[in-house]
Amino acid sequence: MADVHIVGAGPAGAISALSAIHHGHQVVISEDHPVSGLPENCSGLFSIDGLGSLKQFVDFKPTIINPIYGANIHINDTILSVRTQTPVAHVCNRSHLDVLLAQNAETEGAKINYGERIQGNFHANNIIGADGPLSHVARHFNFPKIKKFAATLQADLPFRCEDPRVVELFLSNQKFPGFFAWTIPHNEEKAEFGVGVEVPSRAQEAWKNLLKLKKIEAAVKPSGASIPLETRSKTAKSVSGKNIFLVGDAAGQVKSTTGGGVIFGGNCAALLGKHISNPGGYELEWRLKYGTDLALHSLFHNYLANQSDASLSALGRRLKKLNIDVYLSKNGHMDRPTKMVGPNLMAHLLKSILGV
Ligand SMILES: Cc1cc2nc3c(=O)[nH]c(=O)nc-3n(C[C@H](O)[C@H](O)[C@H](O)COP(=O)(O)OP(=O)(O)OC[C@H]3O[C@@H](n4cnc5c(N)ncnc54)[C@H](O)[C@@H]3O)c2cc1C
Repeated sequence: MADVHIVGAGPAGAISALSAIHHGHQVVISEDHPVSGLPENCSGLFSIDGLGSLKQFVDFKPTIINPIYGANIHINDTILSVRTQTPVAHVCNRSHLDVLLAQNAETEGAKINYGERIQGNFHANNIIGADGPLSHVARHFNFPKIKKFAATLQADLPFRCEDPRVVELFLSNQKFPGFFAWTIPHNEEKAEFGVGVEVPSRAQEAWKNLLKLKKIEAAVKPSGASIPLETRSKTAKSVSGKNIFLVGDAAGQVKSTTGGGVIFGGNCAALLGKHISNPGGYELEWRLKYGTDLALHSLFHNYLANQSDASLSALGRRLKKLNIDVYLSKNGHMDRPTKMVGPNLMAHLLKSILGV
């Protein structure tokens, strides 16, 4: 008889299941969809460090589509080119990753009920809401709301990529209000195109802007999804003898600069298993380990989202003058801004300002 009921078999649900099993629990997972990994609403871009941090749960190598060596960050009309000698990230097949994670959870003893939508019918006294950005578990147990979301549209399109090793990011609050647009190459002939806008702006307009910017026409209809742009202010509690936890997008454990949530959500899920009888312990540990980085992402996002395009251009020029692209090429970290700020950055800024 399961003592842990997980709602959602995405990466956060499957990793929570593995973590709970490793701590001696019996787990049942309810997944709304009939299979894992579909529909796929994700670019599948993960830092190599981040994938490494989850390697005890999944062998990600079979899911790799394309190694990534940097990014062109278009800050309105200024381009910061960040390049590395070795790959910093992989574009992965996200559906395949979800399938592997779910299979691993089943192999280790989790029971997954596919096609079971949970609407209050919980199966155990320890409940994990890994049910994505619009979490039913969070609503059912009256957790504080997430108020900021990005609406996204994405599609894989035939596209001759100038450099298939480099992603392109486009910041313009006129064209992509409150978030950004991207192209993520899969190979020389194909890339994922995507746009996000902060709700209530309209993603459809932004999509047209991206196609115009890249001078292409898309025959394919893009698919849409939501991304939480802030962490929930509470993610665990005890209610009438039940321990309730939120993890992954349900908890808002997402980088609000880029919308990436698999690595942070996965890492928070990884530590959930040991706290099944102690909601406060989970809340404290994930915030101590990852709260500062997520807060910095939020700070950067809020700053960038509130600039006019003229201010973004001025910012781009200032960053370029300070050789920030050179700094990021050497010291950049896709997930953890705390690893980028500090003495190295101070030394770099001093050198750039003094011209030495
Ligand atoms: C366009 C786009 C691009 C992205 N690109 C990246 C990227 O490149 N890198 C990255 O790290 N992140 C990316 N993300 C974010 C990433 O997809 C999410 O952070 C990640 O999916 C969160 O995982 P999760 O397990 O918390 O939730 P989900 O993957 O959303 O899984 C939740 C699961 O719960 C199920 N569910 C929901 N409600 C119920 C219910 N009531 N009963 C039963 N089951 C239920 C759903 O069917 C779903 O399978 C992107 C997101 C979008 C929208």
